[in-house]
Formats: sequence, structure tokens, C-alpha cells
Amino acid sequence: MMLLHPLFISQYGERGMWESAEEIGALDCRECGACSFICPAHRPLTPTIRLVKSDIYANRSKK
Ligand code: SF4
Repeated sequence: MMLLHPLFISQYGERGMWESAEEIGALDCRECGACSFICPAHRPLTPTIRLVKSDIYANRSKK
């Protein structure tokens, strides 16, 4: 079972640390929206993770 850390994934993404985000399972996110829904700070976690995933795939295609 993969335990995801939405906050860490989004923070890595905001800093352009795509490899670190991938290492902690960003691509396993199913974009269900639950983390955004329950976030007490109302952080846009799911949209940010969606962008992180897009950037990871984009960086892969450059290699
Ligand atoms: S969007 Fe869903 S699957 Fe992705 S990190 Fe948030 S709660 Fe987990």
C-alpha cells in the first residue's frame, strides 16, 4: 500500500523538485480531491498535484 503525502508533493512541485515529488509517489495520486476537501488551510492540493504530475511527464518526454 502506498501512503501519499499530498502536502509534501505539492510543496516539492511548487519548488520545481519534480524528482523528489515522484520519489514520494506523486504519480500514484488519483486526483480524487479528498485532500483538498479536508485541508484546514484550504490549500489547492489536488490542482497543484495535477500540475506536478503533468510536469513530471513533460520532463520525462524531454529525456
Ligand atoms: S487527490 Fe486524492 S489520491 Fe491524490 S493525494 Fe489527494 S487524497 Fe490522495
